[in-house]
Amino acid sequence: MKANRLYETFRELITIYSPTFGEGEFSYLLQSKLTGLGIVCEEDDAGMQIGGNCGNLYGFLEGALPGPPLLFSAHMDTVEPARGKEAILHENGKITSGGGTILGADDVSGITIILEALTRLKETKIPHKSIELLFPVAEERYGLGSAIANYSKLQAKEAYVLDLSGEIGEAANAAPTLISFMASVQGRAAHAGFAPKDGIHAISAAAKAITRVPMGEPEPGVTCNIGIVSGGEAGNIVPESCIVTGEIRSLSHSTALEWLERVHGIFKEEAKAAGASVSFMHRCEITAYETPADSAVVRRFKRACEAAGVAFKLHSTLGGSDNNHFALHGIEGLVIACSMHQVHSTREYADIHEMERCVGLVMNLMTEEELCTPEKGAAANNL
Ligand SMILES: [Zn+2]
Repeated sequence: MKANRLYETFRELITIYSPTFGEGEFSYLLQSKLTGLGIVCEEDDAGMQIGGNCGNLYGFLEGALPGPPLLFSAHMDTVEPARGKEAILHENGKITSGGGTILGADDVSGITIILEALTRLKETKIPHKSIELLFPVAEERYGLGSAIANYSKLQAKEAYVLDLSGEIGEAANAAPTLISFMASVQGRAAHAGFAPKDGIHAISAAAKAITRVPMGEPEPGVTCNIGIVSGGEAGNIVPESCIVTGEIRSLSHSTALEWLERVHGIFKEEAKAAGASVSFMHRCEITAYETPADSAVVRRFKRACEAAGVAFKLHSTLGGSDNNHFALHGIEGLVIACSMHQVHSTREYADIHEMERCVGLVMNLMTEEELCTPEKGAAANNL
């Protein structure tokens, strides 16, 4: 398939290694592209605060259409393995990685689509609304970057976060509270051969608790997982400690807290039964939100979908995103699908035709009063 600008931008961004806390080089390239479009950029000090090599990137573009600005956002970091990423465009429009790494469409697809939409607005001189841009760092660590973005700077009350798998036209309007926890079971060490009765077996106590924790989706909209278990010193020592790490998600914040108490209770009971003790720590990584289906942001998105000829679909997700933090700061947002599939795996892929449709959709959002047809959006790119 003939290469085009959309793919070239995607490919160029993909080749940059941009792991969480190491987004500096990527941010530099993105800033130069935004500046080229006449957008004033500013980087905050989030990198310094969280130990990364750059901060969240903010941009503003004044528009001729009235009303407060709309916020468009996509994150700059990727998960691993990502070193040496490449984007291979296939004849049918699918874009895959070279095989040994992730592709990084999460979230370079989102960034590419925003850049292309802005470029076409500039070329076609279609009047648009004022636009705020936020490209956060460290989204893949529970949105550490957007959690500390400079919210006093943001004027937008409506956000479109391009960071979702699914068909173009799909959007998530609700996302969960995510609580991570760590149970540290303390027993007593003893020689496993000479004096096993002197020991208190921490791993055994933890294991009994783990088998009682309802893993998976114990009720609709709630998930619970234990992901790491570590403990013990040697085969001939009754293990003194065992550390169990997990998480709970729920679309309801209070339900997540209830499940956390339940899991804590199970560990307390099993530790007590074994004569061990447990210290239980937790952290609320992100907080649940629900953007009402009749809100302005949903209604605008629906109109934009109709004008772009894509099917509008609204649903909740059990994945967190930067939008969880935006919601905490009074910004109503949607997380919208932007051509990323099987993310966080080396099978990850994007699709140039989907990205093209999403560019048209995003242009519609930006230019509300003069909706683009799919043909108009595509023309500028000579697909
Ligand atoms: Zn993402």
